[in-house]
Amino acid sequence: MRDLQNVTKPMTTAPLAKPDVKLENERSKPKWTLENFEIGRPLGKGKFGNVYLARERKSKFVVALKVLFKSQLQKSHLEHQLRREIEIQSHLRHPNILRMYGYFFDETRVYLILEYASKGEMYKFLMAQPLQRFEEPSVANYMAQLADALMYCHARKVIHRDIKPENLLIGANGDVKIADFGWSVHAPSSRRTTMCGTLDYLAPEMVEGRSHDERVDLWTLGILCYEFLVGKPPFEEEKTDLTYKRICSVDLRFPQHVTNGARDIISKLLKYQPEDRLDLKSILHHEWVQQHLTSEVRSKLPYFQSQDQIQSEV
Ligand code: AMP
Repeated sequence: MRDLQNVTKPMTTAPLAKPDVKLENERSKPKWTLENFEIGRPLGKGKFGNVYLARERKSKFVVALKVLFKSQLQKSHLEHQLRREIEIQSHLRHPNILRMYGYFFDETRVYLILEYASKGEMYKFLMAQPLQRFEEPSVANYMAQLADALMYCHARKVIHRDIKPENLLIGANGDVKIADFGWSVHAPSSRRTTMCGTLDYLAPEMVEGRSHDERVDLWTLGILCYEFLVGKPPFEEEKTDLTYKRICSVDLRFPQHVTNGARDIISKLLKYQPEDRLDLKSILHHEWVQQHLTSEVRSKLPYFQSQDQIQSEV
């Protein structure tokens, strides 16, 4: 296999040829095969297969190719979940949501053609920081990007339900990319009772097995903001039943270094009642976010782009 790092030709940023990517339409079957790609170095190992750097031969477009073994998916009864993940992620177009360009399969494997996020996993980046936590300005910018991306999802009735550092990647410019839609759900009825997600990030309504809606993503944003600033999630305990209790009583404590502005946004997201949580638009306008939001990040957020457009038309 050729290592793409050693290929001297410049990587292209031209879009991947469109005509082959009509995957949602059964009548126009996916036309990609492994032959279309040069495979490069492994980018990482997942539970069901590996991810490789790859380049589409004709366009030279660089992607990440996720290879999943059908046998392992079947053993874990995850075919349905994967279908849902593909169906949802391949339709989303937002700068902070990892693009899924398409998929194909052979006898034994399923291949997902994904946007390449060159700075890798958010979790590893967090762990590599001094004290394993980020500075407040970086976190505020991540929060703005995630709030914007979730606003886009919720408007399309997509709830992510599993926002956590392990499911986030970082693009070439340091932008955050929501990557894993394995637990997400298309919610025409907006209320589901499935227990899913990671324990530390579970909202009270999910812990208690009540129905939930898109506002679980507001809770998980609050947990993520805390973990980014403190280095661990707020209700972490060795015993899971203690974590459950602390989640349901919203037993929130801050270390001294967390500023009042950060405490304010986290406390307003971690509300027991979903209707009391700060909404996504209010996250974008929150004083602490506004204080740290860089003009570069702001200029790329669709919400502010549309606001600026309205302003210029008035
Ligand atoms: P996953 O199976 O999605 O957990 O992916 C395994 C690992 O591969 C991740 O932890 C990342 O380090 C890496 N990876 C997955 N997808 C991408 C991507 N689109 N761009 C860059 N690295 C990726």
